Amino acid sequence: MTMVPTQEAAGGWLSIDLDAIAANYRTLREAVAPGVRTAAAVKADCYGLGAARVVPVLEAAGCRNFFVATLEEGIALRAIAGGEAAIFVLGGPPPGCDAALHAARLVPVLNSLEQIAAWRALARTYDTALHAVLQLDSGMSRLGLGARDVAILAEDGDSLSGIRPVLVMSHLACADEPAHPANRAQRDTFERLRAQLPPTLASLAASSGTFLGPDWHYDLIRPGAALYGLNPTPGQPNPMRPVVRLQLRSLQTREIEAGTAVGYGARFIANRPSRIATLAAGYADGLFRAAGGRGYAVLPGQEDIRLPIVGRVSMDCLALDITALGETPVPPGTAFDLIGPSLPIDDLAAACDTIGYEVLTALGHRYHRHYRSGDGL
Ligand SMILES: *Cc1c(COP(=O)(O)O)cnc(C)c1O
Repeated sequence: MTMVPTQEAAGGWLSIDLDAIAANYRTLREAVAPGVRTAAAVKADCYGLGAARVVPVLEAAGCRNFFVATLEEGIALRAIAGGEAAIFVLGGPPPGCDAALHAARLVPVLNSLEQIAAWRALARTYDTALHAVLQLDSGMSRLGLGARDVAILAEDGDSLSGIRPVLVMSHLACADEPAHPANRAQRDTFERLRAQLPPTLASLAASSGTFLGPDWHYDLIRPGAALYGLNPTPGQPNPMRPVVRLQLRSLQTREIEAGTAVGYGARFIANRPSRIATLAAGYADGLFRAAGGRGYAVLPGQEDIRLPIVGRVSMDCLALDITALGETPVPPGTAFDLIGPSLPIDDLAAACDTIGYEVLTALGHRYHRHYRSGDGL
């Protein structure tokens, strides 16, 4: 007997298409000029998809530059990635952790004068030049050196002594809205600030920025979401291949009379005799409560019929109105698609009033995870 959920026992199956991730990497690489490097954002365990499985696929596709958010993620990735992989830690070294970051052969993204001073001190201790990325705040006011910080660095010739900047980067706030004036404004600010620093490679674009055009590509792009199938061009057809399929099994179905309530708070009351299927996943699995009354599922083979999620989503289950399926038998264990070929993850996100990023990173750990790949990786 095993306590590990098997494919049969799990309430939901999460299928992750590794070939699609590799294809998406190539699509992004082909969207930029040959001299531009295509890095990968692999923070949050590859947006929840599993760095241990995904990173080797990206490496096989030619990726050598990886961005994580934290030191801990970087240490974990160092154990997965090949020796020649460069791993950049977006948050930089936490206070007092510079030596640990260096020991793990990670490269910090330095976001403040304090982080620069600490990294410089470490370089002095080791009497060697240490690689680093410098992040500039070009208008998002999140991370990075502002205009005043850059002026201080530019005035003090020793401020970067012992630090060898390998990249100067910034991040766009509105890249998913190509017409937004902030894009051009941030690019101009980035130009102005980086001109005051020692010349090195530059990077501005993540997934959506890549599709703003060559002016935003510089020397390195750092997409994440697009690799994992999210649409980097909202409102336009998705140029990426879908990566995730989420199927939930039904626990039971019931016939209810008009006037019958469904779920917590009795928030849904059937206005006709209805058939309800209770599916085996809920908000503990990353299916947000906001999906109640707004999201859909489909039965594979009958994808043209969108079946509404009714009532409130519970912790471990949700109710689907399957009346529109008519007499179609739905025995216990029947699998419905919540995310699939005809239901993009971005649609589920929209139904939850959020973005695909949040749905992806919230996908739970009770699903049976299946990694699909043609070459056996
Ligand atoms: C997360 C992140 C990325 C990747 O962004 P996507 O929109 O997922 O492509 C790139 N750069 C920075 C600084 C990030 O925080």
